[in-house]
Amino acid sequence: MPVIVHEEKCTGCKLCVAACPYTVISMQEEKAVLLPGCTYCGACIDTCEFGAITFEDFQGRLCMDVALFKGTHVFIEHDNQTASKVSLELLGKARGLADEFSRQGKDQLVTAILIGYELGDMADELIAYGADHVIVVNDESFKMYRTDIYTKAIVQIAGVKKPEILLFGATAQGRDLAPRIASRLRTGLTADCTALEICKDEGILLQTKPAFGGNMMVTIACPDNRPQMATVRPGVMKKYPRDPDKIGTKEVMKIDLDENDFIIHIRDIMASTKKHVKLEDAEIIVAGGHGVNNQQGLKILETLSDELGAELGASRAAVDEGWIGQDHQIGQTGKTVQPDLYIACGISGSLQHLAGISQSKYIIAINTDRKAPIVSASDVTFIGDLFQIVPVLKDKIREYKKRTD
Ligand SMILES: Cc1cc2nc3c(=O)[nH]c(=O)nc-3n(C[C@H](O)[C@H](O)[C@H](O)COP(=O)(O)OP(=O)(O)OC[C@H]3O[C@@H](n4cnc5c(N)ncnc54)[C@H](O)[C@@H]3O)c2cc1C
Ligand code: SF4
Ligand code: SF4
Repeated sequence: MPVIVHEEKCTGCKLCVAACPYTVISMQEEKAVLLPGCTYCGACIDTCEFGAITFEDFQGRLCMDVALFKGTHVFIEHDNQTASKVSLELLGKARGLADEFSRQGKDQLVTAILIGYELGDMADELIAYGADHVIVVNDESFKMYRTDIYTKAIVQIAGVKKPEILLFGATAQGRDLAPRIASRLRTGLTADCTALEICKDEGILLQTKPAFGGNMMVTIACPDNRPQMATVRPGVMKKYPRDPDKIGTKEVMKIDLDENDFIIHIRDIMASTKKHVKLEDAEIIVAGGHGVNNQQGLKILETLSDELGAELGASRAAVDEGWIGQDHQIGQTGKTVQPDLYIACGISGSLQHLAGISQSKYIIAINTDRKAPIVSASDVTFIGDLFQIVPVLKDKIREYKKRTD
């Protein structure tokens, strides 16, 4: 299904040149000419207002030439010094996918896309965490995250490198970028995935995510378009163990920007006064459920979490009651956590809640009901009233800390 230019209709307006995400249209004698590497994405066809570009023989749905695409690319989020945890988790997952590809006789590289300014030795760290190759865009324009030019940069990189799979964290940045990029690259996107695997028969990416309000897990594939794009929830994939001796390559790429690309202008940045909830990164979490009775009940849990240096989490029931903000919710429709220690207070342990805590190393439950599902999911259970147990626990921890200081 090749794409053809009807010279007689082409006015030389160049709109298609700007629209092609793979930069394979050039102008020759004021007529558009397609260069090798066209993926049949169709972006130029939609853009041309004169009907001068069409598919030669379009008889069905649009299919790109998927054979042109190779490797897994991961967009790296960072704070200019260190890569975010979810980006390292994605590199770990990409490594696993590459291993699966190679078992199927298809060698694939894991590439990290690192965009920013004065990025130190972050590229080496990404190699140590599983990347085979790091594409570095090091330019002052990218010092602060901006939707417009970051989108352009990743579209350009994907246009040149043609990755088979392109992954983002399901974070504010990832959720901002991925749909724009998918739309520009004319491909699909599965948001908020909790599992990724390679289909044994067809070698395509199977992307699993909760759907219909979390009542169902669905698996989505994007067989005909590339890259196969997904955002992945923080905390659900495992990091590749850091290997400082791992060998990888680095490549500096320059992004073509002109002043029209800067749609957003940042005037000032102000620190938020709201305490940021970092449940995904927390080593210890104290969480409260419906059993805490009210907002005051959660305050008692806060004394324990302060003593432990822990983050405060909650079940959906506590969030729905309005006792605590939604950013504290843990579970299928909340956050997925993997702390060393999870203390569930007055939480029954519904399937939806357990889905978010199953990767915790150690679970302690405090519950009046010995038949509550959380009891069988936990390593240690205190059967009893949390309003009696939590203050005692807090005092014991304080005493222990004093003794061992
Ligand atoms: C589509 C969908 C998505 C969902 N997503 C989530 C999600 O992301 N996260 C989530 O948490 N839920 C989620 N839920 C809701 C979930 O099904 C449960 O309703 C919810 O987890 C129950 O919260 P809970 O355990 O706090 O409350 P309850 O089930 O009411 O349990 C309260 C527990 O507290 C104990 N208790 C009471 N008093 C005390 C006391 N004084 N001391 C100690 N223990 C006490 C009780 O024995 C009981 O076990 C979802 C549901 C649906 C349908
Ligand atoms: S958009 Fe259409 S008319 Fe304009 S240069 Fe491209 S093919 Fe020609
Ligand atoms: S890659 Fe897409 S936009 Fe570029 S020439 Fe081919 S069909 Fe047109």
